[in-house]
Amino acid sequence: MTTNDCLFCKIVKGEVKSKFLMESEKTVAFADINPVANVHILIVPKRHIESTPTIAGEDGEDLVDLFDVATKISNGKKLDAYRLTFNVGRYQHVPHLHMHLLAGGKVDWEKL
Ligand code: AMP
Ligand code: ZN
Repeated sequence: MTTNDCLFCKIVKGEVKSKFLMESEKTVAFADINPVANVHILIVPKRHIESTPTIAGEDGEDLVDLFDVATKISNGKKLDAYRLTFNVGRYQHVPHLHMHLLAGGKVDWEKL
């Protein structure tokens, strides 16, 4: 997998259409196309990081920004409780690191 073939790299570059709910220097956030909770937002580093096991020291600032965007979105939506989830291994379908922000009602974990 090169970054040219990566769906989330294409979304970051605007080659696949998506509406960003928030964008910072290092991060984009957009609604999940197939939500499993009332609020289901994907928070994605602009740099291609594959998954949590491949995280390296050079990724530190990207990750701090990722969590910062999650906090800003949840504050903006006045969420008093939410879940931040990373799928790994066979649970991860898009091999570009992304955090699921889930809130509101029940989460359908079987479909995540
Ligand atoms: P994961 O299974 O953790 O890799 O999550 C990938 C997520 O990306 C799934 O929840 C999909 O519904 C979502 N997804 C796939 N394609 C798109 C897209 N074009 N725009 C928004 N979300 C997407
Ligand atoms: Zn990518």
